[in-house]
Amino acid sequence: MTHTQSLALERSAELDAADPLRSCRDLFLGTDDDSVSAYLDGNSLGRPTKASVERINAFMIESWGGRLIRGWDEQWFDLPITIGDALAAAALGAAEGQTTIGDSTTVLLYKLARGALALNPERTEIVLDRDNFPTDRYLLEAIAGELNLTLRWIETDRRGGVTGDLLADAVGENTALVVLSHVAYRSGYLLDAAEAARITHEAGGLLLLDLCHSVGSVPLELDSWGVDFAVGCTYKYLNGGPGSPAFAYVRHIHLDEFVQPIWGWMGRAEPFEMAQGYVPAQGIRRVISGTPSVFGMIAMQDTIEMIAEVGIDAVRAKSIALTEYALELVRELLVPLGVAIASPEDSTVRGGHVTIDHPDFKAVTARLWEKGVIPDYRAPHGIRLGLSPLSTSFDEVRVGILAIRDDLLG
Ligand SMILES: *Cc1c(COP(=O)(O)O)cnc(C)c1O
Repeated sequence: MTHTQSLALERSAELDAADPLRSCRDLFLGTDDDSVSAYLDGNSLGRPTKASVERINAFMIESWGGRLIRGWDEQWFDLPITIGDALAAAALGAAEGQTTIGDSTTVLLYKLARGALALNPERTEIVLDRDNFPTDRYLLEAIAGELNLTLRWIETDRRGGVTGDLLADAVGENTALVVLSHVAYRSGYLLDAAEAARITHEAGGLLLLDLCHSVGSVPLELDSWGVDFAVGCTYKYLNGGPGSPAFAYVRHIHLDEFVQPIWGWMGRAEPFEMAQGYVPAQGIRRVISGTPSVFGMIAMQDTIEMIAEVGIDAVRAKSIALTEYALELVRELLVPLGVAIASPEDSTVRGGHVTIDHPDFKAVTARLWEKGVIPDYRAPHGIRLGLSPLSTSFDEVRVGILAIRDDLLG
């Protein structure tokens, strides 16, 4: 090992000591568990907070066990929107009344895409990109089939994402809806969402953003960017737990006209009148279909509170520092072994994760998991290093990348 390599490796302790969010890591369960020496997949499934153990316990004993059916009137009926507003304030850059929690990201994407298309019925095309997350591509294929619309595919570089030029070339007078991920799930490319909204609107289309890999890691300004619709996961950077319900944002200017296709009683005006005929509820409630998972909404509240407390800008600063450090180690230790960087190297166009490619990475990842080093494998041959800013230390980055190097050296 050269002298500079050892210097970069040795810096992890110094970086951790200087990290203003260092103490947040202690608020998570399992960060002192020696059997996992590097958890680098907090963007697939975030760690639980210790506070969530208390909150779930209190929910079971006091709310569910104590209040029983009265809990619905007292709190649960409004919970999707009260948590939605808290999330909007802490992490979405959105005023209240535009965000609700419920369903999965897949189902919400379907509901918002269908509702958005109904607002632009004369137009015939949906613009999307080849490297968007599979669920987004599949359900837009289904919608295009249902409504007899055309999919206009943007061909992207797998290591980058959708640039303004690519989008401008794809939209036109037929564009009804543009669906893009804000941070690309594989490369980590960070879209310029304000520019995407401007280009989409100039063409007369509506913009639906998938925020799964950006919420809780990069600052969002949905209101000022002019985004029309957005959805995102809560089990990634928001640590809501496996399968916790997603969130939906509908820009206030669309709320009077927006109607989604799954007409259920919980999203109807005056649901307890059990009346004939569907009339959408006023405001963001109309996104709701049936009874939401109250249980699934408990844990995310602790991370939303944590983000509100430390501020999303501090989270982003740590996130950039983590990915910069990871790339520095990758360049020094892994690139000489044939590893390629498959993410933007400029932090201004990169979200919270970094993907690196090597033909052997599928087998390498399986061996790393056995040793308690846990990144993600992403086809065709990428290791994705997910660096959840509140719960990941610089030392974990060091341990993870050293383990990859040692495995490649055999
Ligand atoms: C994780 C992820 C999803 C997941 O959708 P689910 O309905 O929760 O399975 C969707 N889109 C993107 C971009 C993702 O990263």
